Amino acid sequence: MAYIVLARKYRSQTFDDVIGQDPIAQTLKNAVKTGRVAHAYLFAGPRGIGKTTMARVLAKALNCLAVDAPTTEPCCKCDSCAAIHIGDDIDVIEIDGATNNGVDQVRELRQNAIYRPARSRFKIYIIDEVHMLTVPAFNALLKILEEPPSHVKFIFATTQPNKVIPTIQSRCQRFDFSNINPNLIAGQLKSILGQEKIKYEDDLILPLAKMAAGSMRDALSLLDRLISTGAEPLTIALLEEFLGCPNTEKIENLIAKIGDGDAADTLAAIEDLITTGLSEVQVVDSLTDYMRDLMVVKSTGTESELLILTAEQRNRAGRLAEKFDITAIIYNITALEKLRWAIKNTDTPRALLDALLLRLALSEHFMNVDELLSQLQTGSSAPVKKKEPTNVKTETRDEGRGRIDNGRRMTEDRRQKLALSEVEGTEDRAGTNNKQRGKTSSQKKNELINDPAVKTVLIGLDATITGIEEDQKH
Ligand SMILES: [Zn+2]
Repeated sequence: MAYIVLARKYRSQTFDDVIGQDPIAQTLKNAVKTGRVAHAYLFAGPRGIGKTTMARVLAKALNCLAVDAPTTEPCCKCDSCAAIHIGDDIDVIEIDGATNNGVDQVRELRQNAIYRPARSRFKIYIIDEVHMLTVPAFNALLKILEEPPSHVKFIFATTQPNKVIPTIQSRCQRFDFSNINPNLIAGQLKSILGQEKIKYEDDLILPLAKMAAGSMRDALSLLDRLISTGAEPLTIALLEEFLGCPNTEKIENLIAKIGDGDAADTLAAIEDLITTGLSEVQVVDSLTDYMRDLMVVKSTGTESELLILTAEQRNRAGRLAEKFDITAIIYNITALEKLRWAIKNTDTPRALLDALLLRLALSEHFMNVDELLSQLQTGSSAPVKKKEPTNVKTETRDEGRGRIDNGRRMTEDRRQKLALSEVEGTEDRAGTNNKQRGKTSSQKKNELINDPAVKTVLIGLDATITGIEEDQKH
């Protein structure tokens, strides 16, 4: 028997089977139960998350031959149910909007729609990627949507609902399908592996589910590819070798080196990842994902449901999070996002990758305006906390970072040095801290804000922040 891909073999049969779209399934069930099924639906959402599956389940519910009226629990065995399930029913017509997008095809549809269904209660048109229709085709479709024969139902599916003209949208009941939670995908993967009697290692499942980025179809096609290697049990090593999944330990190692501010080891850790066959963009993506996890750990702790990690991975993330403060993590994520864009548009991606990750490793934490003011306010001359990077001489570090910055904006280092020197300057002009004593804190604050030297620093900080924001817009 020919091999059927998993996504087809395990396509959900009933409303209760469809994974991750419970509210929509529930609403449609109610509509069927109460006889309030609309004559046109628009199913919107990313690919591979169950739009076509839900459309077929609804068609079965309306047309199941085992009962006399629409049912929320189609038999899934009668000729109609069986034919609808594989997309080959005489009364449920599936049309690919991408290839049948012309006005002639829609006119033909209109002519055929007036005839009653051959054996079922309804003639149902499922038009996939409906946004691909041409404007004349949309207009032709609109005519039949305005006054459809009572035996006709339309189910439109689209990944780009914004491209479906408003006059069509307003005649449909719209459902927005959401990305499927990786935990739900993981559960389905385990269930299928069980039914297929294929051995696997448990730590494979979550990374595999995460790679699918919310799409059940993608998850199952990744699993198909793993199974086709013939290896058993299926392991995380296979995932890395055949599907290019980044090695988690190596990513964690790179993050640790950045957190330690260790230049030589950071470069070595990048090399280690690149030699596993990852592209520079994949390295950046993996780092961004991991930084996001660290941000969640910092904000909500290691037990957060927002983390899709195993217990052991949670512990490791908790330890790594201690190496960063939250502002540094947020800065790193935005910097990585910019780096991703830059890497895609350069002929020397590796140099950019090395340079930016070194910069992250060597950059001191952000000092924000509030922090600066509060230090000025208390007259504290305590130096800004700095991590002294190992393995790098101070002179070369400054020189290198200046070059990365290309003179466009201050480095954190220089900004902090400037801030400190300005503070010291202020204190000198004020005749040491003595004169400051005896004043209320708000008086001191106002004086400081109005001090020309402090103003210069604040304006500089503002300009830097605006510069970063402007850069991100482009
Ligand atoms: Zn049936």
